[in-house]
Amino acid sequence: MDEKYIAGVDIGGTWVRVAVCTADLNENNIKKRIVRTLKETKYSISNSVCEIFSELLSENNIDQSQILGMGIATAGPLNMEKGEVFNNANLGFRVIPLKKPIKTKFPEIPTYFINDAIAGVLGVHFFEAEDEEKDNLVYISMSTGIGGGAICGGHLLLGKEGNAAEIGHALVEPRSTAKCNCGAYGCWEAYSSGTGVRNRTLDAINDGILNAEQLLEIVDKEKSKITAKEVFQAARNGDELSKKIVDDCIFYSKIGIGLVNSFYDCTSIFFGGAMMKDKEQIIPPLIEQFEKDPIRFTVNHPPNIKLTRYQEEIGLRGALALVKYNIEKNKIIF
Ligand SMILES: [Zn+2]
Repeated sequence: MDEKYIAGVDIGGTWVRVAVCTADLNENNIKKRIVRTLKETKYSISNSVCEIFSELLSENNIDQSQILGMGIATAGPLNMEKGEVFNNANLGFRVIPLKKPIKTKFPEIPTYFINDAIAGVLGVHFFEAEDEEKDNLVYISMSTGIGGGAICGGHLLLGKEGNAAEIGHALVEPRSTAKCNCGAYGCWEAYSSGTGVRNRTLDAINDGILNAEQLLEIVDKEKSKITAKEVFQAARNGDELSKKIVDDCIFYSKIGIGLVNSFYDCTSIFFGGAMMKDKEQIIPPLIEQFEKDPIRFTVNHPPNIKLTRYQEEIGLRGALALVKYNIEKNKIIF
């Protein structure tokens, strides 16, 4: 009963992940569960977190008193202090309380909240970054949306409520008519995220200028079935419209990471998120731009561009690292 553990939670638009691990965060000791994100009431998420956490504890014969803390990474925006998510486009409610309902069930366990992309950079920092890149490190998640986390000069950037580095909402196209998930127009996310690629494709099909025959064949002529995956596939097959959408996705990502590098002067940028399933189409042109592109997208020296090894699990790992760094009073967050 003496062994101490750390708990981690990662709440996304589609999945909720919960893990417990020994306090040293030896990755061989991570026990995890994953369930679909429930959106029936604003307490559905906290209820399912509590439920699967309880199950993990009993399956592994761990008592609540052995848990040193629970790190909770969530799709933002969030208020770290209140432990609630607000104005999220994908979770279904204007405000989603997390801290209070979880505290009610587990009053003895300290909880720590963090934006999921910021958790991502902590996950990279603890589990995979090289020593020489740890102090100036960025994680970019390209998924349903685009999010970021930055460690600059050895400090994790958080901001007043915990939403620093909302890089997906960098304006990359002034006067754009492309609407973003946030309600604004011309954000990076509006062109290069999963929803952005899908929405721009549907717009272009409606415009009717470019040929989308091959794309429509892949989805049996049902436009509602189009996701980023089919667009990237059709682009590989030479579909005219899909190629234009993928080119735009990459072009605006060049602007996006150019801005990121200019703002944070990072040694390395790690990419993750569901869009990385098509990494062969996205990553090489982003690396090449720093050497060969005639347009200069950044003023600072180029960063290393890498992929996280842990894919969809990096946010969960970051939630675990958040607790460890709090306990240790690590200089990254203090
Ligand atoms: Zn936006």
